[in-house]
Amino acid sequence: MNVGVFLDRDGTINVDKEYVHKIEDLEFIPGVLEALTKLAKTDYKIIIITSQSGIGRGFYTQRDYEIFTKHMLEEIEKHGGRIDRIYYCPHHPDAGCDCRKPKPKLILDGAKDFDIDLSKSYMIGDKKADVDMGRNAGCKTISVMTGKGEKSEADYAAKNLVDAIDAIINKKV
Ligand SMILES: [Zn+2]
Repeated sequence: MNVGVFLDRDGTINVDKEYVHKIEDLEFIPGVLEALTKLAKTDYKIIIITSQSGIGRGFYTQRDYEIFTKHMLEEIEKHGGRIDRIYYCPHHPDAGCDCRKPKPKLILDGAKDFDIDLSKSYMIGDKKADVDMGRNAGCKTISVMTGKGEKSEADYAAKNLVDAIDAIINKKV
């Protein structure tokens, strides 16, 4: 079986400017591109799990999301990074969907698609819902203080994604 690192997007990888969907609003948190490059050299499957309720709220379209995502992935790859797949929830919070954080569905989908052993895998995010989702899926959890930096019961409290990836590579968590 494979192992995986599941990553939140807004507030963990890029600066959370609320409903980010325009290319000009993509701003990587300092050190993140280099950290992703380091992670890309490991055997971990690298998967982004992101809430895009702005689509369900009508703030932007699925097409806007896809254009933004393509650009973000190109920037990551340009620096030697790799994202194996992105799973997202496009629904309005009131829609009662089964994929919104902290429900574990999107992580479970990734685990199924990539044959991932979740007990040896990680979920990293800045919000309590990210940490709760990771725990609900049976992952180890890491919180970061970038973005919302919400208080949570994560297995490891990292300063940022750089620190989180170092902790994984150096087996501190
Ligand atoms: Zn959903």
